[in-house]
Amino acid sequence: MADDTIVAPATAPGEAAVALVRLSGPGALGIAARHFSGKRSPEETPTHRILHGRFLDLAGAPIDTVLLSVFRAPHSYTGEDVVEISSHGGAAVPAAIFETLVRAGARPARPGEFTERAFRNGKLDLAQAEAVAALVRARSDRAARAARDALGGALSRRIERLDGALVALLAEVEARIDFPAETGEPLDGVVLAGRCAEIASEVGGWLEGLPGARRREAGVSVVLAGPPNVGKSSLLNALVGYDRAIVSDTPGTTRDTVESSIWLDGVELRMVDTAGLRSSVDPIERLGTERAALALSRSDLAVVVLDRSAPQASMDALAEVRRAVDGGAGAGGVLTEETPVVVAWNKADLARVGAPGSLGASEAPRPSRWDGTALAGTRILAEVETVAIEPMGAAPLRAALREALPSVLSGHAGAEVPTTSARQEALLGEAHAALRRAETALRADDSYDLVALDLTDARRALGEIVGRGVDQEVVAAIFSRFCIGK
Ligand code: GDP
Repeated sequence: MADDTIVAPATAPGEAAVALVRLSGPGALGIAARHFSGKRSPEETPTHRILHGRFLDLAGAPIDTVLLSVFRAPHSYTGEDVVEISSHGGAAVPAAIFETLVRAGARPARPGEFTERAFRNGKLDLAQAEAVAALVRARSDRAARAARDALGGALSRRIERLDGALVALLAEVEARIDFPAETGEPLDGVVLAGRCAEIASEVGGWLEGLPGARRREAGVSVVLAGPPNVGKSSLLNALVGYDRAIVSDTPGTTRDTVESSIWLDGVELRMVDTAGLRSSVDPIERLGTERAALALSRSDLAVVVLDRSAPQASMDALAEVRRAVDGGAGAGGVLTEETPVVVAWNKADLARVGAPGSLGASEAPRPSRWDGTALAGTRILAEVETVAIEPMGAAPLRAALREALPSVLSGHAGAEVPTTSARQEALLGEAHAALRRAETALRADDSYDLVALDLTDARRALGEIVGRGVDQEVVAAIFSRFCIGK
């Protein structure tokens, strides 16, 4: 157990109803008691009690009315004595409380130090500690759920189960090293190889499911692309609900990409508005077009926006861009069959019969087939008509995106127990490789010593996921990425 007491603000500074300052360590109760005036002292309170009173500065003057939550070792987050001080929010009050506690002998905590202490005191394993960081970072329901599951031990339990199977297998292999006379049964190696293959394929299946799990957690990227002035920025604004992208009347003004997010069914859709896709000689615009092409090639879904009131003109403009960007290759360039497309025919209001200023536009037919058009060779999931400048005018697009989600996420079946860090994933990869080596060696009837080494290596990798045998520097590096007060 650590012998010093640490302190940190646990809430972000800024205007807020409440703020929390957290103290942990052997001196937590004593330090808090010296600066607290209430009916009862934290030092005389049983664990899990909340005290109401005033927090006093070094001179004994009240800083604020506060609530003290008292948790006694080992029944606390860190496993040590912990006091959490809830005060009014804002910049001044929590800062004054923090400063007072530091002057009273507590040391400002390093990032992640509370969780690090919890790890060192056996309250959490390393996978769970990383889940804490993942939970704080989570930007979608799914990501939060995955992190919560890991925090609850789902990941650790799966590791332990695999390790149990590995230990049993290793024991059999080692028995054959120690008592070679008992080996020699034909097929012996094959049977053991089969058991090894089972463990390997479970780890392999887990690994394979991770991209899908990650995508669900990280969200999908949706690029809005199309010729200039068809209403891409307006549609983005309508979807996101505020003026995130700047709308303008001059074609080609959205020169950079703009990102904002919407959430549909718990999945984050990161919407990227691209500079008007247009083959241009203006170098700045040209750069924007290249970025758009890059964004498109990396996106999970493309919304191709076209002008419903001028279908042919906008299709021609799109075709021209595809030619320019793809270097004349036509299909197979930035818009490929791999990127599913939702077509949004925007400005549908202008195409309505009798719409002001749209004489004749209502007759403009929209293509009924895509062969031989600018969108030939793409995977079109849906076509909708939108009016970006009307309150509910983007609703059909939102509905189409929701319907497209399963198809965008499919083919990427998620692992039922996702990992929460790149470190864990790398270790799973190491375990998998070692298991495959062991399996091959068993099938080839290689020396059991070598097999034992590989199995031991697989155990090491799995163990490191939950923190067994991880060296101090790695642990320190993991916690240094946490935020202060966690
Ligand atoms: P972008 O260049 O594709 O991003 O197009 P903008 O979103 O900047 O829109 C270009 C112009 O078209 C602006 O004047 C918008 O107000 C207008 N606009 C966008 N969507 C619609 C629509 O559905 N109907 C009508 N009538 N005008 C629209």
